[in-house]
Order: sequence, then structure tokens, then C-alpha cells
Amino acid sequence: MAITAPRGTQDFLPEQTAEWQLLEAKIRQICSLYGFGEIRTPMFESTELFLRGIGETTDVVTKEMYTFEDRGGRSMTLRPENTASVVRAFLEHKLYGDPQVHKFYYMGPMFRHDRPQAGRYRQFTQFGVEEIGSKDPAVDAEIIAMAFQLFRELGLNDLVLHLNSVGCPKCRPVYRQKLLDFFADKRDQLCDDCNERLEKNPLRVLDCKEDGEKMMQMGVPLITDNLCDDCKEHFHKVQEYLTAIGIPFTLDPRLVRGLDYYTNTAFEIMYAPLGAQSTVCGGGRYDGLIEEVGGPSTPGIGFAIGMERLLLTLKEQGLLPPVEKKQPVFIVALGDAAKTKAFELQQQLREKGLYAEIDLLGRSMKGQMKSANKLHADYTVIIGEDELAAGEAQVRNMASKEQVSVPLDGIVAYMETHKKG
Ligand code: ATP
Ligand code: MG
Repeated sequence: MAITAPRGTQDFLPEQTAEWQLLEAKIRQICSLYGFGEIRTPMFESTELFLRGIGETTDVVTKEMYTFEDRGGRSMTLRPENTASVVRAFLEHKLYGDPQVHKFYYMGPMFRHDRPQAGRYRQFTQFGVEEIGSKDPAVDAEIIAMAFQLFRELGLNDLVLHLNSVGCPKCRPVYRQKLLDFFADKRDQLCDDCNERLEKNPLRVLDCKEDGEKMMQMGVPLITDNLCDDCKEHFHKVQEYLTAIGIPFTLDPRLVRGLDYYTNTAFEIMYAPLGAQSTVCGGGRYDGLIEEVGGPSTPGIGFAIGMERLLLTLKEQGLLPPVEKKQPVFIVALGDAAKTKAFELQQQLREKGLYAEIDLLGRSMKGQMKSANKLHADYTVIIGEDELAAGEAQVRNMASKEQVSVPLDGIVAYMETHKKG
């Protein structure tokens, strides 16, 4: 049986990688505008890092990780996300000793044992940022603005920002208790998953896909009505900054994270036509995470964008510009001696930064002209036996069909003045 790529993984052939490269270039440009530097961490880490950094009750950790024992008997996991690794690197390199705001971005593959479908894969790519060292709500608004600027510059306007605050370790336990009290006599109205969530991670009941709406109608207490003064003020400020720069948002009290180290701002940016895979960007503040992973208490916030989903969205909206193919000089050569000359010229042109090709399939003159057309050559240089003897070549401009004789030792100079790139 033929060997195929593992389920949930994809190959990207050169035409598709060209689209990725366009997107990556745009992302890098925005990151540099906002002062973010790229961080690259390993594709696998000690499993322990993700248990602490993502949380042992989350779906990612309980159901989706690719965990294996290495030959030394250590438990390793292919990274399902990048925040935990960035935090580990931040600590390992003692960056907390430098009291500034640290801004990182990453782009790369993540691995989750998800159920593959459009926009959901087992190896997928995230672009994300982490801004570590400041509690200022301007930071929250800044990274949201960054995601928005990226989307807008890509031409995407139909995105909706959902915003919530999940409070802090001061106000959340009080709210959690209110939730438990509220559901105490209503447990039979909840799905099995929600009953389990109430045990382990009560806040998560609100983002139940089945019963979430119903709960709102039942009058479930909302975290945003139960924030302490500091959290209220923080949430208010984030909204004020977003409003000041014209970013619309929808308050969504059902957007929760539920783990203790998540604090204040939680947000998602959605593109509705992607259905169950509509979340293009998810992010939030995690002022307790760094301490959880073993460092000094340090605030932080980040987001992650699923790049496959972003590309799907761009495609669906017809926003992927056609990838421009570079046009070569095609050197047509007849006979062995001419071929050697063509090979030499090809090299000289390339070393001058000009794209050049020759025939590598032993084709006839006619066949070589066909190859030149297929590659959309802007010039062909024709070296037959007669030309070679005379020390010159025919240079044809493929668009205008003009043809001139140029001495062989003048071809490179001719192309340098005439050819575009
Ligand atoms: P979902 O609810 O869609 O599973 P999530 O909450 O697991 O998303 P996050 O952990 O917040 O996602 O990851 C951030 C982003 O990464 C998502 O918004 C999405 O765009 C992308 N993403 C997550 N899982 C996958 C996957 N299996 N395949 C492709 N993209 C993904
Ligand atoms: Mg998921």
C-alpha cells in the first residue's frame, strides 16, 4: 500500500508555500511595527511543562497531546501551543532580570490530536505573540490592535472581536461559588460534560456548545457582574482604548478560560463562515502563568492565530493575490559546445542576480522554445552552431518579439541593462 501523509497533516507544494510566504511576510512586517522580536523554541518539550503551563484539566492536555517516551525514558510532548515554551524560555534565560516589557512573536507548527476537518488539523501552524512584564490595559488593547491591523491589511473586514474579562484570583473564587450555588438544584438540566466541568472547572460550563445559550436564559450569574474593583477598572480601560482606536467589539460573558492563571482580558476574533472552526484568533491575559511554571510573579498576555484558518478565510474572500512568478532568461542551445556555453552564461547571469534557465531534457530547438514559453521567459538567448562559431547569440524579447544579435561576451551586460529581475 502506498504510504500517505499522516491523517490531519498536509503537504504544501511550491504554489501553496508561495501563499504562506506572502502571509508570513505580512506578519513579520506588522510584528516589527509593533516592536515584537521572533522567538523560536523547540518543537518538543518535557511533558511536565505543558501539564503546568496549559493545565491538567484542559482538553488539550487530557485528549490532544502527542506524548511519547524518548530513548532515555523521559516523557516528551510535541508542542500543542507555544505560550508555555515561551514562558519556559523567558525563565531559562532569566529575562525577568531585565525590567522592561518583553515582546515575542512566533510562527510555526503545533501538534494536537484533534478530529481532522476543514480548518482543523493534527499539525497546524500558529502565529502568536506574547507580551510579558506589564499589567497595563494598554498592552491588552495593543495586541488586539495588532491582530486587527494584520487582518485589515490583508483585506479582511468581516471579523468580530469577542471580549470578556475572567477576573483574577481575588474575585473569581467568589464568582465560582456563585455559579456552583446557582447550579446546585439545576444539575439535571445540564449535559454530562457540564456536570463534569462543574466538578473540575466550573467557569467552563458557560462555553458549553450545547447549553450555553440556555444558561444565559436561565439567568446564570456572569463574571462581568462579579469583578473586583481592580478588574472592573482594567476591563473598562481596555474597552476605552479599543474604542479610542476604532476597534469594534462584542462583550461576550460566555468567553471563559477557567484556569487560575488566566486573568482579566479574554478575547477571540471570529470569522463566522468557517462554522465550527470560526475562531481565527484566541488570546488572553495570564498574570499567574509565569509563577505557575516556576518563575517570579510576572504579568503577561498573548494571542495565537491559526494560520491555516486565516488562509482559508483569505481564499474564501478572494483576498489572496495571485503569486507572481519570476520570469527567466531561457538560453536555448543546440549542440554540445553551445550547451556548455549556455551553462556558463546561466551561471554568470545568476551570479548577477538574474534568473536564468537552460534545457535539461535534451530537447530540440522547438522543444526548448516551448520550455521557454512554459516558464514565461521574458528573454530567450539562442545559441546555435553558427552563432557559436561567430561568437554571438540571438536575443529575443519574448513580449515584443524583437530579436537582436549580441556578442556572447556581451550577453550578461545586455541582460543587466534590459532584464527586469
Ligand atoms: P478550537 O475551539 O477551534 O479547537 P482552541 O480553543 O483549541 O480552538 P487555541 O488553543 O486558542 O484554540 O488556539 C488558537 C488558534 O489556533 C485557534 O483559534 C485556531 O485558529 C487555531 N487552532 C487550534 N487548534 C487547531 C487545529 N487543530 N487546526 C488548525 N487550527 C487550530
Ligand atoms: Mg481545540
